[in-house]
Amino acid sequence: MYHPTYPSDPGGVHTKTGLMRWASHANPLTIKALSLVPSYRTYRQMYTLLQQSQWWSREELAAYQAQALSRLLDHAYENVPYYRRVFRERRLVPGDIRAPGDLELLPFLTKEIVQANLPDLKARNYPETAFEYVRTSGSTGTPMGFYYEKGVSRAREWAFMKTQWDRVGYRFTDRCVVLRGHVVDAASRGVYWRRALFGRWLIMSSHQMTEEALPAYIHWIRKFKPRFIHAYPSTAVILARYMREHGIEPFPTVKAVLCGSENLYPWQRSLLTETFGCRVFSWYGNSEQTVLAGECEESTHYHIFPEYSIVELIGRDDRPVRGPGAMGEVVATSLTNFVCPLIRYRTMDVAVATEKQCSCGRQYPLLEKVEGRLQEFIVTRSGHPISVTPINYESEAFENIRQFQMYQEEKGELIMKVVRKSAYTEEDTRQLTRELRWQLGDEVNVHVRFVDEIPRTEGGKFRYLIQKLPISIGDL
Ligand SMILES: [Zn+2]
Repeated sequence: MYHPTYPSDPGGVHTKTGLMRWASHANPLTIKALSLVPSYRTYRQMYTLLQQSQWWSREELAAYQAQALSRLLDHAYENVPYYRRVFRERRLVPGDIRAPGDLELLPFLTKEIVQANLPDLKARNYPETAFEYVRTSGSTGTPMGFYYEKGVSRAREWAFMKTQWDRVGYRFTDRCVVLRGHVVDAASRGVYWRRALFGRWLIMSSHQMTEEALPAYIHWIRKFKPRFIHAYPSTAVILARYMREHGIEPFPTVKAVLCGSENLYPWQRSLLTETFGCRVFSWYGNSEQTVLAGECEESTHYHIFPEYSIVELIGRDDRPVRGPGAMGEVVATSLTNFVCPLIRYRTMDVAVATEKQCSCGRQYPLLEKVEGRLQEFIVTRSGHPISVTPINYESEAFENIRQFQMYQEEKGELIMKVVRKSAYTEEDTRQLTRELRWQLGDEVNVHVRFVDEIPRTEGGKFRYLIQKLPISIGDL
């Protein structure tokens, strides 16, 4: 569930697309000049389409998808050696797959397969200059590299992201505080933030948010008067917990907290909503750009963009799961990446679908919730995986805990690393063990270990569970 293409990454903003800068100009002459730049044109075209397509009927969306799919398959068959082989081995031609339901005729694409076949996944009808090599972070298991279309993939992603954020009133000119995985260069000199985008963004280091430094963070955020906070949920939680503990008032100018790139757990949502006193808006996507889904004005269900990809939920028998409340692995076919097509790509993320229709009027398919990555399940003694999503880390048992992280390498055994607050006593350990036993059942032994700090991932994210056991959808 990584999303390094997320526009607030400074690399993505300045060096890769520069779109934030361009799109913020209102001058029509500038816009006209900019339309000559391919990235901007891609952005503009996609954004314009999405303004209309988000209100299309189910039939219109289905027709769009069927057409996009057939274009993709024709192309993959003609120009991508790996897919040519896949079709031939199955004695298929693209015409055999007329609708998303027929995709079952094609095999899944795993990270391992991508890794082993990358040269053959490159489309032969694109020049070498069209390929931008992208590597996903390896912390969920298999690291993987693949290709974006240079100057196009990121621009298009922007159009989708902006369309989502429009739902909570986001404008490019808004002042934003960014609390994501950044390390601000001057942090060693005691400066934990820097301005970007002509001063409109205050990028704050997520690595120095200590008890000592947090009052200064809060002071500067308040002074900056942001309209939005872009955050990793785990980072926003550090700020929120501190504010709540010290009875600090919310920032009056903030209209919404935009949360992405990590799963947003129910306890995080309620803590953030309560402490910041505003809407928490979340979306789900990945850096492979095979799925993108976001909340809307009226609901917290994830609205899947059908213009972006075809999403299947696959159950333990590798067949699609259907019906309300059905849980499965997200398997997705990108409809936009032609340089390196990813068809029936196994994301290793688990989600729950809903058949409900949203009151906003969009006819997009909905996910009721995203459970998280497969590697975010705890495995019991008998091998049954339990989702960590329902665990409430805001309960009393966690009151005297500054930070924690779960670690599992053996079935039925869970190590809970804890950074204590000064008020922590043995009673807290007993309470914590009791609480987790209640949440996880008798099939998991909890061992509490005290540590001084819990490191973040290279990308500055925080992982509540380090799962060393391999888990596949078949175990669920
Ligand atoms: Zn909606």
